[in-house]
Amino acid sequence: MTATRVRPVLVAAALLCLLAGLLQPLAAQRAQAPLPKVHFVATGGTISNKEGGRLTAEELSKSMPGVERYARLTHEQFTNVASSELTLSQWLALSKRVNEVFASDKALAGIVVTSGTDTLEETAFFLHLTVRDPRPVVVVGSMRNPSTVGYEGAANLLEGVRVAADPASRNKGALVVLNDEINSARNVTKSDALRLQTFRSRDYGQLGVVDRDRVVYFNQIVQRHNEQIEFDISKVTELPRVDVIMVYQGASGDLIKAAVDNGAKGIVFAVAGAGATSGTQNEGLAYAASKGVFIVTSTRTGSGRIAPPQQRPEGSGGGGGNSQMPPEQQRRRQFTIAGEDHTPIKARVVLMVALTKTTNRNELQRIFSEY
Ligand code: GLU
Repeated sequence: MTATRVRPVLVAAALLCLLAGLLQPLAAQRAQAPLPKVHFVATGGTISNKEGGRLTAEELSKSMPGVERYARLTHEQFTNVASSELTLSQWLALSKRVNEVFASDKALAGIVVTSGTDTLEETAFFLHLTVRDPRPVVVVGSMRNPSTVGYEGAANLLEGVRVAADPASRNKGALVVLNDEINSARNVTKSDALRLQTFRSRDYGQLGVVDRDRVVYFNQIVQRHNEQIEFDISKVTELPRVDVIMVYQGASGDLIKAAVDNGAKGIVFAVAGAGATSGTQNEGLAYAASKGVFIVTSTRTGSGRIAPPQQRPEGSGGGGGNSQMPPEQQRRRQFTIAGEDHTPIKARVVLMVALTKTTNRNELQRIFSEY
């Protein structure tokens, strides 16, 4: 080998040594990097509902073999009740607490909240709309209680911790994790009273899965979420009353009147199909409008969308603007908002949160179209 050939080889070897020297401390640093921090907030539900007494946050934290491989876990007991017993002031307190924990610990990767499954989708969606941070809030429950053979609570909780610890879970809104599946709190609904695979995102599908090797995402949520959220509940002390009333043949308008007379600021009207109402409820609807109570229409079919009136094509029925309309009908329209693709239960959560910010009809409609 000539001297001119040897020189580049030597230079390359020297460079490689230098690079290895630089990378070695980095690799060592990575090996020693502390595990992500995850905070766990327990609220109760079947996951903790053991015969003879409920499991505490601490007991649940210790129920997950191998959790120390994924995260450094801290915990707190928020309450210990069935999900349907959570009050609206507890919703507010829970969301404030989650926001506060995120604000006070910038190094935290995510938060896991346990909940009973019956109304889990409501609490999770409330957190989805009110936690303004890119880090994940993961809501977890179980269908079988700790005294049952096949209790899946510890597995679900461990998967929730893994999801909360994973950087890929950031900016995906609040997440619901059960049965190895990750669903968006916006779309998920309890679809079966008993089955383990009860949490489904209707036709939208799951966001991802928790597999043995890793957390995998397939989908992204497109509506506003995380830091794009405009609601600030830090100073809100009470959520407005919003009721859900269903349309069915021969339904009376009295229930609408009763809700209005008892202080409802909004009513979600679970309409048939794409907007059909029962004629017998018209008087109730006119009464609500006369009292300035908003009516949000949401389909009772379980899926599909109710479009705002101006977006309906001409001639599709019940649609476009009409200045010839009788004044009573016009007033009704001024207080009617299309619930877009939200189920009635989710539309209620949107309306409650939205009413903490505005009582302008167009603004409310915009909010329904953006979240
Ligand atoms: N499945 C019930 C719920 O959604 C839990 C029952 C209980 O914790 O008592 O909360």
